[in-house]
Amino acid sequence: MLKPPPLRNDCFALPAGVDWTPVADALALLRERLHPVTATESVPLAEALDRILAEDAIARRSNPPQANSAVDGYGFAGPVAEGAHVLPLARGRAAAGVPFDGVVPPGEAIRILTGAALPAGVDTVVLEEDVTVDQDRIAFRGPLKKGANARAAGEDVAAGAIALRAGRRLTPADLALLAAVGIGAVPVRERLRVAVISTGDELAEPGQPADPGKIYDANRPMLLGLIRRMGFEPRDMGRVEDDREALRARLDHAAEEADVILTSGGASAGDEDHVSALLRESGAMQQWRIAIKPGRPLALAMWNGRPVFGLPGNPVAAMVCTLVFAYPAMALMAGMGWHEPQGFDLPAAFEKRKKPGRREYLRARIRNGRVEVFHSEGSGRISGLSWATGLVELDDGERHIRPGDPVRFIPWSGFGL
Ligand code: AMP
Ligand code: MG
Repeated sequence: MLKPPPLRNDCFALPAGVDWTPVADALALLRERLHPVTATESVPLAEALDRILAEDAIARRSNPPQANSAVDGYGFAGPVAEGAHVLPLARGRAAAGVPFDGVVPPGEAIRILTGAALPAGVDTVVLEEDVTVDQDRIAFRGPLKKGANARAAGEDVAAGAIALRAGRRLTPADLALLAAVGIGAVPVRERLRVAVISTGDELAEPGQPADPGKIYDANRPMLLGLIRRMGFEPRDMGRVEDDREALRARLDHAAEEADVILTSGGASAGDEDHVSALLRESGAMQQWRIAIKPGRPLALAMWNGRPVFGLPGNPVAAMVCTLVFAYPAMALMAGMGWHEPQGFDLPAAFEKRKKPGRREYLRARIRNGRVEVFHSEGSGRISGLSWATGLVELDDGERHIRPGDPVRFIPWSGFGL
């Protein structure tokens, strides 16, 4: 007699009798197995944004290179005591880029503008707003410490110091710092090439006519965009039908074109799940039962020496797995070292009961200093990904979150976006 099993009606329940790998263990495996693969090239600063520094950047000169004035005012030798002071004005002035090359005698002052090198005999500046001037004298009140309103040479960065460390992904501010310390070109890592393949007979190309039985390939544009935002080089390898030989050929091609391969769809153990079937065949580094929601199934494997992330087909799960697993792995391979997503704790604006045994990520955003989560946890709800500005991370244990309880919010930027 054919007897049905009890109805559980919970698609996220972890099947019993299987060892579910905790997220932390899967990450530890990636960290241990992967290593940087990118070569080094030199690029001018104008092209260095978002590139990864291949060596420590050593300051060629100090910032600032000379002691200079922080304000428009009058310079002299400090300190000056409390009370009223009248100083004779020396002739001439010091301006940014147009130094005064004489010596200011003790007890005299000189007109000085912001950014001007302090002339010999000057170490302290009084703001022009604090001064009364006549033809050849200034009057002001102390006290002023020696060095007031002046910047010391090298007070920001000294020549020879490490301005930025290898592995740093260069920001606009980093470019300012490198320029200031005399660096015009930097050794950076070549961009990590990341291939993206969508799989599934049901997929149609966005914008093209499609039968009701088809769905548009939403993962590919998303994944290509994520990779670009992360600073890597996306390689669009198109769509493949649920056909093992076609998929094998596409993986072979992707392994030639790229350093890492991201596929989506076909990663479970179903009849049409050719990604997992092929990857299992290829051996090394298999790991596809990870205790994460959303995110099952995720296949981790090597294909012709290239790591493959067999991402789930559901767009929400595909994006979460890309951020949580693929990003740290790709950052490591790209030369940035291991990446721990940076988040912060904020009060929840929601209530949720969470089961033990798996890590969960919720689409979330911040409003009025509290974390809101998307009204549905359905992993096909792409609109929730658009709505969100980050993820709430809930650790593996059981939890009952009530409004006001602190939860860990990780903004997209915490995942390299
Ligand atoms: P699979 O992992 O292949 O079982 O797919 C899980 C779900 O994700 C199914 O509903 C698929 O139709 C859907 N899916 C797979 N690939 C994509 C894609 N590229 N874009 C949008 N949905 C997808
Ligand atoms: Mg499929």
